[in-house]
Amino acid sequence: MPSPASPERSTAQSLHARWIVVDPDVVLQDAVLELRAGRVVRVLRGTAARRARGAARALHVDGVVTAGLVNAHAHLELGWAARALRPGLSMARWIEQLLALRRAQRPEQLARLQSDALRAGARALLESGCTQVGDIQVDPGSHAALAATGLQGVAFLELLDAGRTERTAEALRSARARLRLATRAGPRVGLSPHAPYTTSPELLRGIGALARRRPRLPLAVHWAEFAAENAWLEHGRGPLKRLLTASPRCSGLDLLEAVGLLRTGTLLVHANEARAAERERVAASGACVVHCPGAHRWFRRAPFDLRAWLRAGVPVALGTDSLAGNEGLDMRRELALLRASHPWLAPAQAWRSATVEGARALGGDELGGTLRPGAVAAWVGFRVAAQRASEVLEVLTTGCPDLLDPPRVSRPRAARG
Ligand SMILES: [Zn+2]
Repeated sequence: MPSPASPERSTAQSLHARWIVVDPDVVLQDAVLELRAGRVVRVLRGTAARRARGAARALHVDGVVTAGLVNAHAHLELGWAARALRPGLSMARWIEQLLALRRAQRPEQLARLQSDALRAGARALLESGCTQVGDIQVDPGSHAALAATGLQGVAFLELLDAGRTERTAEALRSARARLRLATRAGPRVGLSPHAPYTTSPELLRGIGALARRRPRLPLAVHWAEFAAENAWLEHGRGPLKRLLTASPRCSGLDLLEAVGLLRTGTLLVHANEARAAERERVAASGACVVHCPGAHRWFRRAPFDLRAWLRAGVPVALGTDSLAGNEGLDMRRELALLRASHPWLAPAQAWRSATVEGARALGGDELGGTLRPGAVAAWVGFRVAAQRASEVLEVLTTGCPDLLDPPRVSRPRAARG
């Protein structure tokens, strides 16, 4: 596998490729990408591209160059439980069995398993063309561990108290500690109240107060993932009664909205069981939905209503979720599963979900997930033999193409929230 020259911070570089996917709507043939200081400076085509191809430092890529894929939702630490649970479990059973597996480990053993899984998961993402991840973490040390892998994105600290007030203060203490971390390089810092059913109203209020003072703080929450969740939240009924204490008798969206956690940029993960009126509220809030096609299939869920979300004008990003509830950590496979489940979906829209929407959801700038001038030069080369521009995104979103080169992740001065 040829190794690409790095888009060094201080030096300019030209990269010529048979095809360049500048963004979901612009695919250029025989084009040149000019990079400087870890950013795209310009994209050349025609005569200008032919002239730049001859430059001494030009790198030739015999394939398709795109922005790195963005995995908007993962739990890399949970890779230690890969293949330990049976596909198709109900969510209540899945939670019970995962908790039993955790209890069977000594704390130091579990910490080691989690950090090994994080590193292996990050490697799997980078080796499949993903350069940004929204990673949900339980270990306070995992932000530094993720930063060391070279992946960009957001390290979300998972917060929950399962309705037990003695755990609420501890969860808020760890949230404040995560927010104090320096974030000059590597992934941004974010908070993830696990779900409205595992976070007490007091904990949600505390996280809401922290978020109110930080309008750009990335937030992620599992929401409306399965029907039993709504039954317990709203009526105190169903299998979650075995695991939880008092039902708030309120919808999950109401709980999030009441404390200010339903806002621009909030990642609402799964959103499988949303009602039509809730889609309108999510659209008005500026939040985004994360769909995880592989996890959706693993849990054998009813078809995801992607069309309704897109019609409502809600951005839909893609994620893998965890290896405890999915077969792999490969965004190429997630794209192929998405296209297979929604044959009407245009390749450009699928690509947008796996790049632009994910990058925006993780708080990047407007150019995130693209190779437009000014964007971070995190590019990936795929082995795709296409004759026409229209074939390029078709193959990228259905064919799980091999990578030509390892992806480059540059670390320019990113805007911080
Ligand atoms: Zn998840």
